[in-house]
Amino acid sequence: MTRSQEIIGLFDKYVMPTYGRYPLVFVRGEGARVWDAEGKEYLDFGGGIAVNVLGHAALASALAQQANVLVHTSNLYYTEPQGLLAKRLVEMVGIPGKCFFCNSGAEANEALYKLARKFGNESGGRYEILTFIESFHGRTLAGISATGQENVKKGFEPMVDGFRHVPFNDLDAVAKAVGPKTAAILVEPIQGESGIQPAKAEFLRGLRRLCDDKRLLLMFDEVQCGIGRTGEFCGFQSIAPDVQPDAIAWAKGLAGGFPIGAIWARTPYADVLQPGSHASTFGGTPLACAVALAVLDTIQQKKLMQNARDVGNYFMSQLRGLKAPTIKEVRGLGLMIGVELTVEAKGVIARLMESGLLTIPAGATVVRFLPPLNITRAEVDEAVHKFREALRQTAA
Ligand code: PLP
Repeated sequence: MTRSQEIIGLFDKYVMPTYGRYPLVFVRGEGARVWDAEGKEYLDFGGGIAVNVLGHAALASALAQQANVLVHTSNLYYTEPQGLLAKRLVEMVGIPGKCFFCNSGAEANEALYKLARKFGNESGGRYEILTFIESFHGRTLAGISATGQENVKKGFEPMVDGFRHVPFNDLDAVAKAVGPKTAAILVEPIQGESGIQPAKAEFLRGLRRLCDDKRLLLMFDEVQCGIGRTGEFCGFQSIAPDVQPDAIAWAKGLAGGFPIGAIWARTPYADVLQPGSHASTFGGTPLACAVALAVLDTIQQKKLMQNARDVGNYFMSQLRGLKAPTIKEVRGLGLMIGVELTVEAKGVIARLMESGLLTIPAGATVVRFLPPLNITRAEVDEAVHKFREALRQTAA
């Protein structure tokens, strides 16, 4: 029995089978590469699903430094890293506001739902949040209620009340759906899980106008597309930088793999959630915030958003240049790229894995590439070569 088989055996026996996992056991990583328990090397273009923005083994010094000083105190007290991280996030958004910290994307969105409900209830008994068909907002009960995909809801009914799904990139449909109980609109500027579907600039601008007209909060779920991935700090800034949201949720890449989630809300909505209205024991620990600050420092110092733009454009042009008959469309922004195939993505992803390239499926037919933001052109060339071969074998 191999070491991988032994470890998979532990999962079969002791870990709840909530995930459909690939039969790979990883033991070590460095930069954009990971190694399995038998020592086979993989180029990691899945990036832990848009989390490992600096690649692997990149957080050790920030973690060790803060771990030697202060790990956790609770939110009954103040700590400097949380204050500094909030300041940095407000600066990155560029609009006056404040932040709240939690531990994951679903939890960040949960804070948005509560912000919207409190705002809505206080402004005329409104509670409904419009979200989009094919959206994804997380796996908590409110998360699956907000998510516009039936498969995540099945078996968990009844859903949390107050979410309605409307067609993405269809402003007329959204305008028609707004009712007297609507308090907010929550949208992913680039839908990730459903296969990398960017919102149109005019759509985001139209949502802003609609929210202004109807006094609704415009909330962006930047959990997957944020933190520099699209070439700007926020995904919406790559699409329509003139659009000013009222609130934003982040998680995934914020601390490069250390768990953290956060929301930002614009003044005056930043003060809607008052003492006693929301909390998280682990939210914004000095450890998580210090690591996030170090990640954001590195992104800025090493100009990784510029790299995401440049290498992302190069990557996209190389993929478009493949002209394989099994490629239907290449789409995305920066280093958030989806290739829609005319065949099921599953087989291609398995072939890529065999050849030592990790990618992520989205929907049935999309292969997603979410590499670290410091990925190089040489690594992209290597990935494109493996992708070309996998498509060639699929077509054959
Ligand atoms: N929102 C979006 C857009 C996501 O892509 C995800 C996860 O894929 C989530 C929310 C949920 O984040 P988490 O898994 O950290 O709860």
